Amino acid sequence: MSTAIWGEPELQPDQNVPTALLTHLLQQMIGQFACTGACIALYDDQYDQMEIRLHLRLREAHVATTGLTRGGASNESSNIHDRHITVNLGDPSNSAIGRLKRPSQAPSLDDVELVSPQQNELFPVGAIYRLKQDVIGYVWHKNETHIMRHEDYLAFFYTGSQEGLQVDVVPTWYLVVPMQESTLVDEVRGREKQPRITGVIVLYQTVAGAVFQQKQRAEAREFAERIALYIQNDQLRRRQIRSSDYLKQLQNISTAFPTSVQLAKLVTTVHDFASKVVDVSSMLITLYDRDTKKIYEVFAIQDGSPVDDLPENPRAIPPEERPVWWRVTQQEEKTLLLDLAHYELGDYDELLIGSWGDQRKAGSFLLLPMKMFNRVIGSLCITSMHPNAYQEEEIQVLETMVQIVTVSIENAKLYERSRQTVHAAKQREELLAAMNSALQTISVSTVLDVNDIQHKFVESAAKLAHTEMSIFFQCSANSEHLIVQAAYETPKVRIDDIEFDEHEQLPNQDKHENLFEKIRLPFKGSTLEYLVVEGFFYLDDSMAEELAKECDEGGTIFLLETGIKKMLMVPVLYQAELIGILGVHTPKQNRKFRPTEIGMLLALSAQAASAMRNAQMYEEIQEAYAEQQQLDKLKDEFLVTASHELRTPLSAISGYSTLLKRQSGRINPQQITRFAGKIASATQQLTDLVNSMTEATKIGTVDKKLDLQIGPVQLQAAVEMAVNLLSVNIEQKIMTQMEADLWVKGDPLRVRQVITNLLDNAAKYSLEDGRIEVIAGATVLSKVDLPEDQFDVEVDPHLPVVLVQVHDEGQGIDYEDQQKIFEKFVRATRSLTTPVRGSGLGLFICRRYIEAMGGKLWLEQSAPGEGSVFTFYLQRMDAPVEVDKGTN
Ligand code: ADP
Repeated sequence: MSTAIWGEPELQPDQNVPTALLTHLLQQMIGQFACTGACIALYDDQYDQMEIRLHLRLREAHVATTGLTRGGASNESSNIHDRHITVNLGDPSNSAIGRLKRPSQAPSLDDVELVSPQQNELFPVGAIYRLKQDVIGYVWHKNETHIMRHEDYLAFFYTGSQEGLQVDVVPTWYLVVPMQESTLVDEVRGREKQPRITGVIVLYQTVAGAVFQQKQRAEAREFAERIALYIQNDQLRRRQIRSSDYLKQLQNISTAFPTSVQLAKLVTTVHDFASKVVDVSSMLITLYDRDTKKIYEVFAIQDGSPVDDLPENPRAIPPEERPVWWRVTQQEEKTLLLDLAHYELGDYDELLIGSWGDQRKAGSFLLLPMKMFNRVIGSLCITSMHPNAYQEEEIQVLETMVQIVTVSIENAKLYERSRQTVHAAKQREELLAAMNSALQTISVSTVLDVNDIQHKFVESAAKLAHTEMSIFFQCSANSEHLIVQAAYETPKVRIDDIEFDEHEQLPNQDKHENLFEKIRLPFKGSTLEYLVVEGFFYLDDSMAEELAKECDEGGTIFLLETGIKKMLMVPVLYQAELIGILGVHTPKQNRKFRPTEIGMLLALSAQAASAMRNAQMYEEIQEAYAEQQQLDKLKDEFLVTASHELRTPLSAISGYSTLLKRQSGRINPQQITRFAGKIASATQQLTDLVNSMTEATKIGTVDKKLDLQIGPVQLQAAVEMAVNLLSVNIEQKIMTQMEADLWVKGDPLRVRQVITNLLDNAAKYSLEDGRIEVIAGATVLSKVDLPEDQFDVEVDPHLPVVLVQVHDEGQGIDYEDQQKIFEKFVRATRSLTTPVRGSGLGLFICRRYIEAMGGKLWLEQSAPGEGSVFTFYLQRMDAPVEVDKGTN
């Protein structure tokens, strides 16, 4: 039922008083206690008083007493009342009073009326009572139920003026009962609390003879308690509705500022919201700026009207000047609630006087700190003119609001700060994505060009890290050096701005490559190797200076003249293998990179490494394939050569043997000996050829498998034996020029074989009068002038060696054939057109033998028509103590 039906315009609609509920309850009480009227006073904690909220009575009571003298509080004329009682008690008729005399039956709405203050001045709605004042104040104070006559009430309790007291119905008896708040809720919550008196109910009789009985006291108390509980419940329900309303509004606040805060909009929203929750007469929002360490008063409302110009001219104060504010918000981490009625000390004057005027005269003050984790970002202060204006429940709602606002402001600040960098970060992201896809495309597509990848790699790295220079150093095969493979510089600084060679007038690209080839940094055993094991590191100017000392010219210039202050060096790893180092920096800049940048560079390097590996593998496969094709070609050539080589001795053998068979009767013994000699020689040729071929196949590419008898070999003896063997079949004279007593480390048989082969070639490819000479001497490896492809870093340069050279004055070897002749089955082009026989296996086999014995064999010098020099070295050995020259 709504209050509208009741038509109670004189009642102030009060959110806190559930009029309909109270009416219903009082109706019930009137029925239960068979009385005429009832009123209820409720406690108002804001003013600490009881106030009559509702006064209700039976319409019949009014009708029944019409005609009584107004202004007289007499109960002497009670005939009508008696009649009524008699009638009603004796005959439960349809009369309202009669009906209501039966306990527990509440009068209907039509049977009761609201008593207005004009109608009756006893217990009028709106009357207030302090503690101990009047019967209501007395019952409240005593927490006791009282039954009394009207005369006694007037005599002992009534505090108003009895002169001209307007009453239309005069009560005869009163029952006054305190309404004690139920402590059930607190018991459930485990809190102990003194029960409060939340109201006082006054029941009265108007009919003579109708009295309240003592036993009804307990009953009334119980009833009153039930009413208290109802009211309490009602309040809780209202709170709940209000809270969910607040929550909805809080939600609105939090969604109002997702990323950006317009301060003006924020503060008005905060004010609107706070005003809906509590009474706000003045408000002050103060922010603390961590960057400048100053406090700003950004918004103020003084007595309901905004204080102008604050956002434009914030009052910036360092915390030292606002110690109380600082302490309350920073250290005490609390909401500060001041009851200004009892505020005297001046402790908080600093908070109370400011842009929002002097608030010391206000009734209540509330300060809510704005905290993000442990950081203070500001505070919200509000005041109300009323005392006790801010209750626990409301403060909680405001605290939630402040939390939301705090997060909003912090977000907005962060957003402001990162807004600038977001754009750049986006670009980087896009770049990384582009790089990813670029690398992915490369690694799966046919464009498997290591150079291309390396250039893309350095360019992307420079752009990702925002540096002007980015360089990829690759580890050399033996890890001795780091060699620049690719470099990228923004147009501002170009590596060729360095005056590397001012006389060189090369186009940019050439100049670049020329320069890169010269940049070589020491790696193995250097600081770089030591540091890169740990991950990324910085190469600073002093380290660069140190490194430069161990460098060749290119490296030194690079380290000292490219403005290295702090170069970030990122390892480029393929799985666990170090492929190289990526160096990024901006010349002359001492910049530290952020973890995210380093992370990106590491990721990029890893991707680049696998892309490079893929490309390298692809290149190797391509090379192997090319090699395979070359080998096929050689095999074809060999078949032609071999068949020719085989056919020549075979035709000799078959020729002479046929001759012997057919002419056996006619040929003389000398002829037989000659033919047999020819056959034997041809057979030897065949045997040699077949042997060479088997040997070549056997040693193949895996030379280590050779079964060698390594020991000291006397060179002189080996050469002599070879010369003796050969001189039977050749025209040329072989000269020797050798230091005495040279011993080499090797297998005697193979050493001799190599020398024989070289001398045989010298004779084969020379004219009959050509001079052939063997020159041998002792030296150390470092003094040997090795061709680049025969240089082996792993061999100690101080190794004592014996150098053996075979000189001839023969046809020489064309330049383009010089490298190839050591390959299997390869013969120089000119030899293919001459009648000189050969398989193209000799030099191949010789080189493998020498290498297997720890030496090297190469063509030292040759020019068409001017002869050749073939050279080999073997490790020199001391002569054995007991020498058996015969074995060599
Ligand atoms: P073969 O002599 O059986 O053809 P080798 O492997 O010994 O095979 O030599 C390979 C090729 O090198 C020869 O075919 C020849 O063309 C060239 N060659 C080797 N030694 C000499 C030399 N002393 N003078 C000129 N050419 C030579």
